[in-house]
Amino acid sequence: MSRSHRRRSALSLSMIAFAAALAGAVATAPSATADKVALVARAQPKMVRAPAPPGPAELRAVRLGLGDLKAAGKLLAGRPEPHWVRATGAGESLPGTLRFPVGKGYVTRGFGSGKGGYHQAVDIGGEQGSKVRAAAEGLVGYASGGVSGYGNLVILVHAGGAITTYAHNQKNLAVAGQKVSKGAVIALLGSTGRSKGPHVHFELLFQGKNCDPMPLFRPAAKRKDGAPAAPGLSNWKQANKRPKSIRCAPRKHHPDYVKRPGVPGTVLDTPAEVFEDEDEGGSDS
Ligand SMILES: [Zn+2]
Repeated sequence: MSRSHRRRSALSLSMIAFAAALAGAVATAPSATADKVALVARAQPKMVRAPAPPGPAELRAVRLGLGDLKAAGKLLAGRPEPHWVRATGAGESLPGTLRFPVGKGYVTRGFGSGKGGYHQAVDIGGEQGSKVRAAAEGLVGYASGGVSGYGNLVILVHAGGAITTYAHNQKNLAVAGQKVSKGAVIALLGSTGRSKGPHVHFELLFQGKNCDPMPLFRPAAKRKDGAPAAPGLSNWKQANKRPKSIRCAPRKHHPDYVKRPGVPGTVLDTPAEVFEDEDEGGSDS
């Protein structure tokens, strides 16, 4: 819908609201017809809703250049623009620890699993439609479904330039440009994209590398049987003091990776073409 059309719609809708209000005022006479009018008038305002003008998040996304596939490519490469990091307003230090993003979720697959260790992410299984929460305070850099393989995907930029991703969502609830607090609900868990069952494909990226988030999760990540998924817990606040338990490596490609320039979502020579969650039977624990 064009902006002018939207404005016209908003105008005509507000006229309807005005008319409904008038009808309400008229409908004070004690007759059956008047009662009917009053009922209609009372019902009207609920139905009348002008399209929302662009909110602060939408405006921020436009201003910062967030939300499109180009931005997604940079984020998935672990290379956020410095002005995106500044816009988080969250400071220089890394988040330290990460909130485990799914309340009753459990780890089904770890970092470095799959053929050649291509799966540089943690898969978190859970109930379809359950809440997916931000692992740390941040800024939504991308929230759409255009990246091949990832399904509905939300990507957050955090303090210090750390990036987290939440893929395969049933529905994204956050929008690009939005600032979110730690624990904010950003999506509903699902199985969109290349996925064999409801789960969140969670990645942590920093300075061009994929890192293993497992030791950073609080509460500590668990397997479905309740056993701890992480051998130990760590805290990573200073960029140059990475705990040894957190492995980081340049992104690897899925064995079936095929470069397909010109295909939407795969136009960038970036991880946009990484396929995950196939051929591995879901769990490698
Ligand atoms: Zn995965």
